[in-house]
Order: sequence, then C-alpha cells, then structure tokens
Amino acid sequence: MQPFSYAKVTSEQVAIATVEQDKTAAFIAGGTDLLGLMKDGVQTANILIDINSLPLADIESQPQRIRIGAISRMSDVAFHPKIQECYPVISQALLQSASPQLRNIATVGGNLLQRVRCAYFRDPVFPCNKRIPGIGCSAITGYNRMHAIFAASEHCIAVHPSDLA
Ligand SMILES: Cc1cc2nc3c(=O)[nH]c(=O)nc-3n(C[C@H](O)[C@H](O)[C@H](O)COP(=O)(O)OP(=O)(O)OC[C@H]3O[C@@H](n4cnc5c(N)ncnc54)[C@H](O)[C@@H]3O)c2cc1C
Ligand code: SF4
Repeated sequence: MQPFSYAKVTSEQVAIATVEQDKTAAFIAGGTDLLGLMKDGVQTANILIDINSLPLADIESQPQRIRIGAISRMSDVAFHPKIQECYPVISQALLQSASPQLRNIATVGGNLLQRVRCAYFRDPVFPCNKRIPGIGCSAITGYNRMHAIFAASEHCIAVHPSDLA
C-alpha cells in the first residue's frame, strides 16, 4: 500500500474544496471498497478525506418521498421503519448485500460509488480499459459470467456492482 495522508473534515465546503484542489485526494466513508482497492494497488490517493463527521447521515421522511443522507449506514437504512414500510425493496436490496459487519460501517453513498466487481479491474496484472483507457478489456474474451449480456460497450462489459442500484 502506498503511503497517504489522512484528514477528517467537519465541513462539506472544506471537503469539496480539498478534492477540487488536489486531484490525488479521495473521500473515504466506510472504506469497505476504497481501502481494498488501495491495498491491491488498483487505486491510489495521496490524501484521504474522512467524511464520516459530516452531517449527512439523516434519513428524512417526507410525503411521497424519502431523503437518504450519503453517509447513512446500509444497516440504518435497511432497518429504518419508514423504509421498511414504504420502500421495502430498498431494505431488501441492502440486506442482500455484503455481511452484517460490513453493512454496519458501509454507507449508501459509497455503495452507489463503489467500483466494478470485475476480477480483471481489481487485479492490476491484467489489461483493463476502466483502469487504463485504451489498453484493452480482458473480460470480453475471458471470464465474464457476471458481466453484461445486453447493451454492453465494446470497451467495457462490467455492470454496476451495487445491489441497491
Ligand atoms: C467482502 C465484501 C462484500 C461486499 N458485498 C457487497 C454486496 O453484496 N453488494 C453490494 O452492493 N456491495 C458489496 N460490497 C461493496 C461495498 O463494500 C459496499 O457497496 C459499501 O456500501 C461501500 O460503502 P463505503 O462507505 O464503505 O464506501 P468507501 O469504500 O468509503 O467509498 C467507495 C467510493 O465512493 C466514494 N465515496 C464514498 N462516499 C462518498 C460521498 N458521500 N461522496 C462522494 N464520494 C464518495 C469514495 O471516494 C470511494 O471512491 C462488498 C464489499 C466487501 C469488502
Ligand atoms: S469489463 Fe473489461 S474494461 Fe470493464 S472493468 Fe472488466 S476488464 Fe476492465
């Protein structure tokens, strides 16, 4: 794993300004996807901006809709009474995901922004257009059982990995 700096932010403006100024910075929420990618050398970040102290964990119920904060934990969303009553598919999708330990720390924002679960993307030994554009896609002629059947691009056939999505 490459060395990196770490900063905990308490202001959304500071968080956004930091990643705008430093293209090597990345937000970290639960870290359940990002840290694995960094350990495997798939993704690098010189500075991790910890967003867990931002006021973004609320789940607000309004008539005809619900607003889920980006750092709401998967388990908090899945067991929220209003979600279970009015949007059971969200609860079911989250409870089908990962494990209880992961769901207690992983966020819905991170869930929607997690990277693809393509084995070639996650192993830097193999060519992958998503990691290095133009280098080729190993999955098209390789192991592609979990990949797109319809409407795939000729450059990448990975599908969105989030059960919630
Ligand atoms: C063993 C294991 C099993 C898993 N199983 C499943 C599964 O069955 N189904 C499933 O859907 N997923 C699964 N995952 C994937 C993943 O852990 C979860 O989707 C989780 O929700 C990611 O959330 P996080 O908060 O940990 O994200 P992080 O790892 O912190 O972040 C992921 C990405 O999102 C960015 N990010 C995070 N929050 C924000 C934000 N608020 N604004 C902007 N960018 C942000 C980060 O910079 C990073 O690029 C699994 C992971 C592991 C390790
Ligand atoms: S499908 Fe191809 S381009 Fe897409 S992530 Fe996998 S190897 Fe990379």
